[in-house]
Amino acid sequence: MGPKRAELLAQELGIRSYYDLLYYFPFRYVDRSKIHKISELRQLSEGGEMPYLQLKGQFAAFAAHGEGAKRRLNALFFDGTGSIDVVWFNKVKYIQENLHTGIDYIIFGKPALYNSRFSITHPEVDAYKPGMESQGLKGVYNLTDKMRNRSMSTRTMQQLVQNLLATLKEIDDPLPPDIIARYRFIPLREALVNIHTPASVPMLQRAQFRLKYEELFFLQLNLLRYSKVRSMRLGGHRFARVGEHFNNFYNHVLPFPLTGAQKRVIKEIRADMGSGRQMNRLLQGDVGSGKTLVALMTMLLAIDNGYQACIMAPTEILAQQHYETISQLASQVGVKVALLTGSTPKKSRDIIHHGLMQGEIGITVGTHALIEDNVQFAHLGLAVIDEQHRFGVAQRARLWSKNSIPPHVLVMTATPIPRTLAMTVYGDLDVSVIDELPPGRKPVQTILRYDNHRQEVYRFIGSQLKEGRQVYIVYPLIQESEKLDLRNLEEGYEIIRETFPDYRVCFVHGKMKPSEKDHQMQLFVSRKAQIMVATTVIEVGVNVPNATVMLIENAERFGLSQLHQLRGRVGRGADRSYCILMSHVKISGTTRHRLEVMTQTTDGFVIAEEDMRLRGPGDMEGTQQSGIAFNLHIADIAKDGQIIQAARNDAMSIIESDPTLSQPQNTKLARQLQFLYSHQQDWSRIS
Ligand code: ADP
Ligand code: MG
Repeated sequence: MGPKRAELLAQELGIRSYYDLLYYFPFRYVDRSKIHKISELRQLSEGGEMPYLQLKGQFAAFAAHGEGAKRRLNALFFDGTGSIDVVWFNKVKYIQENLHTGIDYIIFGKPALYNSRFSITHPEVDAYKPGMESQGLKGVYNLTDKMRNRSMSTRTMQQLVQNLLATLKEIDDPLPPDIIARYRFIPLREALVNIHTPASVPMLQRAQFRLKYEELFFLQLNLLRYSKVRSMRLGGHRFARVGEHFNNFYNHVLPFPLTGAQKRVIKEIRADMGSGRQMNRLLQGDVGSGKTLVALMTMLLAIDNGYQACIMAPTEILAQQHYETISQLASQVGVKVALLTGSTPKKSRDIIHHGLMQGEIGITVGTHALIEDNVQFAHLGLAVIDEQHRFGVAQRARLWSKNSIPPHVLVMTATPIPRTLAMTVYGDLDVSVIDELPPGRKPVQTILRYDNHRQEVYRFIGSQLKEGRQVYIVYPLIQESEKLDLRNLEEGYEIIRETFPDYRVCFVHGKMKPSEKDHQMQLFVSRKAQIMVATTVIEVGVNVPNATVMLIENAERFGLSQLHQLRGRVGRGADRSYCILMSHVKISGTTRHRLEVMTQTTDGFVIAEEDMRLRGPGDMEGTQQSGIAFNLHIADIAKDGQIIQAARNDAMSIIESDPTLSQPQNTKLARQLQFLYSHQQDWSRIS
């Protein structure tokens, strides 16, 4: 292709090589064997999203409007059952000269409804020839507007791929022959041909199966190779002892019996830290499942073995809360605890730095300040990271690099991650799950209300306030319309102050200075304020047991996992708690379904699975920052669980027998990994 096109492909889609082009798959397929009638469109549009489809008919009445960039061409297209509008915004002159009235065309596109008339923008147009009705399956590529403006269409993509496949004599199959045989995969060339231009539905499915497997197999092979090599190459501190700190705490300080899940998880952690290898463990547990306690007991094990431990939280206020809980408990077994955050005054900071270097401080609670360069530990043996998804991989890297033998790492997250996603994104971490809440918790009652019930909701809030409870009111704040959202938030704040004049209302959002934010949060924590109006900055971790109502405005704009996190802020005390989801009356069926899931279950894993099913894994919290390239071409983590499992097992057995992939039969695999992942940073020393 010419240099202009090549540049466009590289810029817009990142396609720079033959491989990139061949592996840029259609994102969906349409059935071009059927010609629809215009009179059928209305009924089709009632089934939800309008499909791509083809119509057969003639053009009438071309009319160009506007000038320059605003120029567009309208035409009427009719087929004897009705008519629709067709619109072009570019190449107006060319189209006007080349399309004619009085001949039959097939047009292909996605009709949209405007002012109760259907129209298609930039359809594919072909002069009709007999037999054209049955073009079979056709891929649709994700292309950018810029590409379309320069007349690169799905058809262009298909031609490029076909030309390329025709010139490539040989396509080397990266999968091992025994795997190809085991799954009866079709040859790679056939798979590529059929993924772009399927001969039939069954052939498309076989192509998809093969290419999904290939993608997941190499992803798993890469993850597992790293974790295997890491555990071989890097030793870990062996925590062999369970000593007096742990035992004293367990026997005399622990304020309640551990739940079964907490016990099991602590056992898993102990075994891992005692193995002589470095622990890299993800601890998943729903909000309120008691992760802090598990973290504390894990840290006591480190101290029993002569090491220091630290725990990092994503915000000051969380660090503060952890510090209060942990120092209160740890001091009872004689462990010194320090708090180190961005706002620790210089003088205390120096003292803490000294104490850390001397090894006097057993446990340090902190924020990012903990990984600043001048913080030196005498012998850091364990790092706990709370609420993982707020903490970048690069930040973790800085912590590790302080030590020749890396500390054990426990990453805690309250965002339950579906199993298949965990395998893919955290495929190199071991996973422990707390799947049981402490006894006596009353599940939060969740209610969906529409805007027109606002007064009723306010009356209810009033009654809770009267009983001395506290209330959160949360507004969405998302990037695209930040200004608008902020105005909503500020207006909401004013309305709440007017509605509840007898109570103090505090106000928190992400654009505030940290000190001001902390001040406002503190008002709520100390009960000086009874109502907190906020954005999702409160999502993570804040613990105010007296708060019993979580009102979420525009709940339709939040993801399920986020709603679940927010809900977790209430129901922490002895009183019955409520989560009220306020939504616009006009929402789609899917959105309504999403919100109803929240009212039906409080199980974070069920919610996470559902969220992934509805939104797709790419949008899930935590996946972007995971540090592992997360751009799957074809596999779908939400749907391809079985293939993921199979690919992982196969990759595992190869890595078990040849961790460095240096045996002759595996060199091709090593080369493929090099090819696929060499641009990635080597995280093997990190997590
Ligand atoms: P999260 O997992 O969300 O971090 P926390 O560790 O903050 O949860 O625990 C939530 C609350 O549950 C805390 O008040 C804690 O003291 C309490 N808790 C933890 N474990 C138990 C238990 N085994 N029995 C009773 N209460 C517990
Ligand atoms: Mg917590």
